[in-house]
Amino acid sequence: MSLFIAGQWISGTGPELQSTDPATGEIVWAGKSASPADVSEAYKAARGAFLGWARTPLAERVEILRKYASLLDEMADELPTTISREVGKVLWETRTELGAMKGKVELSIKSYEDRTGNAVSDTVFGRSELVHRPHGVMAVMGPFNFPGHLPNGHIVPALLAGNTVVFKPSEFAPATGELLVKAMEKAGLPPGVLNLVQGARDTGAALLDGDLDGVLFTGSAATGTFIHKKFGGRPEIMLALEMGGNNPLIAWEFADVEAAADIAAQSAYLTSGQRCSCARRLIVPEGAEGEALVQAVLARAESVKIGKWDEEGVFMGSLVNDQAADGALAFQQKLEEAGGKSLKKLEKLPISDAFVSTGIIDMTDAVNPPDEELFGPFLQVYRAKSFDDALRIANNTQYGLAGGLISDNTALWNEVHISMRAGILNFNRPTAGASSALPFGGPGISGNHRPSAWYAADYCAWPQASQIADAPERMGAQGFPK
Ligand code: NAD
Repeated sequence: MSLFIAGQWISGTGPELQSTDPATGEIVWAGKSASPADVSEAYKAARGAFLGWARTPLAERVEILRKYASLLDEMADELPTTISREVGKVLWETRTELGAMKGKVELSIKSYEDRTGNAVSDTVFGRSELVHRPHGVMAVMGPFNFPGHLPNGHIVPALLAGNTVVFKPSEFAPATGELLVKAMEKAGLPPGVLNLVQGARDTGAALLDGDLDGVLFTGSAATGTFIHKKFGGRPEIMLALEMGGNNPLIAWEFADVEAAADIAAQSAYLTSGQRCSCARRLIVPEGAEGEALVQAVLARAESVKIGKWDEEGVFMGSLVNDQAADGALAFQQKLEEAGGKSLKKLEKLPISDAFVSTGIIDMTDAVNPPDEELFGPFLQVYRAKSFDDALRIANNTQYGLAGGLISDNTALWNEVHISMRAGILNFNRPTAGASSALPFGGPGISGNHRPSAWYAADYCAWPQASQIADAPERMGAQGFPK
């Protein structure tokens, strides 16, 4: 039974879908995806459940979500293992993903109250009141790289605010999506409030054609831009689009080259480079200081331990699949053709076709390097003539998700802080570190100014402002008959 619609587990009527362990090829999940007719049933269920759920007292919605959080604890082995098996991420990381999913519930409750709560103030005529209302039926579409945490980051605040949801997990992680929905079901969510449809792009297309009030999306800039265009001219639809980045990290005036290299290499290679906030471009000064750092990053790139997700002591697992590994090689070639000089080639590893090594390329003399996100363990180095030049290179991107500075000089941080265009901007910390208690998103083509995490509450509810007098009273105004 692959789909969950109106509180029932049913089989899809679309094409077969499978997820496989990228390290071994072993099938993790198999089932039928949702056809357009199944998707339409899911929307009917969500629409039918909406009013009841929206009018359920907040305290009851909170109770169910807290129960869900406690049930995630019972999946402390199953969920991380499933994520690792589906997408190849190492187990120590997927365990932290489970923690983030659980933590999201309390954070969402706080942020709902903080950002979209109710307020009353006295006025001469009576009072003014602010409340927040849910939008209605939200489509949630998730990426593969955090297949639990990121859809969860839309679903929890959406349900808390009183919306109902049709959720399509990444086609590479259907089992993870299924576990999330099972925990919600067990927590006592009423039928139709959360519906699960499995499938790839065709199911995604049917989802976008459905009877929806909003799309809460995390994924690539290409898909997000497609969604934005599709809903152009429809201001009534809430779009929250969380997309990728071509993230710069400047290293300038630092004494501890080893510490700087740790930060740079972790920024680039955490999760095998499959984090939207990974550093893609390292910008260093021309000359000895920059060269020392590049050599230290190269040393780390050579020696990070890469292996199967459950292997002891591994830092990086595989990419999500063979196609992603082929795409990384093709991107490297494209950069070489643009004039990049390989310092360490990204190569396939003989573990399985989804494994690649780390790679580093010097792009200083490249002509028109592509402003694209390569979602893999691949770092581009730029050597800048001055700090101003470094900042210019950093901002030379259409994206604006993450960025950072490594330095001992706080004056440089003050400059970066004000002039680097990045929503997640870190100082002497990896670019790939972010707090769930802060907003997550950035300008440019990294999103549509509806950041997620702490600000997810904002896109899950709309404000309703009222002036209230307990009884009608005669109204006077200049020139108005008495
Ligand atoms: P993706 O855009 O390929 O897929 C995301 C979802 O959209 C999937 O469910 C997919 O099935 C669906 N989809 C894809 N094409 C579609 C289409 N034409 N019509 C309808 N649905 C479609 O992204 P991905 O490869 O799964 O995830 C990696 C990307 O996500 C990277 O670009 C990464 O930077 C980004 N990301 C962003 C954030 C953030 O918070 N900003 C977080 C994680 C990942």
